[in-house]
Amino acid sequence: MKHRRETNQIIAHVTKLSEMAIDRGDYVLSQEEQGRVDQLVEMRLRGVPLQQVLGEVDFLDLKLRLTKDVLIPRQETEILAERIIESIDPGEGKVALDLCTGSGCIGLAVKKAFPQLKVILSDISPMAADIAKGNAELNGLDVEVLVAHLFEELGEVKIDYLFCNPPYIPAHEFAMLDKSVKDHEPSIALLGGSDGLMFYRMIEEDAKNCLNQNAQCFFEIGYNQGEGVKEVFSGAAWTNQRVYPDYASHDRFFFLEFSSLPGVK
Ligand code: GLN
Repeated sequence: MKHRRETNQIIAHVTKLSEMAIDRGDYVLSQEEQGRVDQLVEMRLRGVPLQQVLGEVDFLDLKLRLTKDVLIPRQETEILAERIIESIDPGEGKVALDLCTGSGCIGLAVKKAFPQLKVILSDISPMAADIAKGNAELNGLDVEVLVAHLFEELGEVKIDYLFCNPPYIPAHEFAMLDKSVKDHEPSIALLGGSDGLMFYRMIEEDAKNCLNQNAQCFFEIGYNQGEGVKEVFSGAAWTNQRVYPDYASHDRFFFLEFSSLPGVK
C-alpha cells in the first residue's frame, strides 16, 4: 500500500496531475514521463527519502524545494513554527533570525504569517543558504539570507525573535539513526557534538551580544535534552525557560527570553 501510494506520488509529480487522477488509472504516460518515473522509482528503491526524490515538500502552507544538502523538514518543526506564530506579536521594526535555517522552513513560515516582520535566514552551508533563498522566491517572501557561522555576519542588527533548530544529535547516537537519515541527510545538519548540546552552548554564549532586551527565543531540542538546555541557559540573562513535549511526549521545544539585566551578560 505504501509503495503504491509513493509510486502514485511520483507519477503525480512527473505528470503534474493530482494523485486522485492517477489513482483512477486512466492516464497513459508518455514515453518520456515513463522514463522519468522509472528513474525516480529507482532512486526511491535505493533508499533515497521520498522528499528528496520529489525534490520538494509541503511545510504548513509553503511548498519548499530541497536537495540532500538540507535537512528534510520534520513534522515536529512544523509544530515549532506554529507555536512561534501563535506566540509572537511583532510590532513595527522588529527583526527575526532563523539560525541554521536549512531549507528555510521556520523563518519562511513565520514571514508568511507576518509579512511586515523583517526576517533573516542564516546557515553556515552556502548550499543550504541557496536553497533557502530559492524557497523564499518560490513562495514570494522577501527575506534576507546570510551564509554565516551563527551570528557572525549580522553586523549591528539586533534580534527580537530567534528561531533555531540546530544540529542536536549526540555523536554516539548517530549510528542508531534510521538508515535513510544517516545515509541521505547532511550530517552537518544533524550532529551536535558529544552530548548534542554543542550548538546551544555556542548560541548561549554568542546570542547575548546580538539580542534586544526581551528577545524571545524558540528552539527545537532532542527528545531528552530538556534538562540539558535549561542548564545551558540558566544564567541570569535568561528568563522564562520552558520545555514543551512533542506529540510523542518527548522533550522537543525550548522557549525562553533574554532579559539582559544591567551589568549581566
Ligand atoms: N531549520 C531547518 C529545519 O528545521 C534545518 C535545521 C538543521 O539543519 N539543523 O528543518
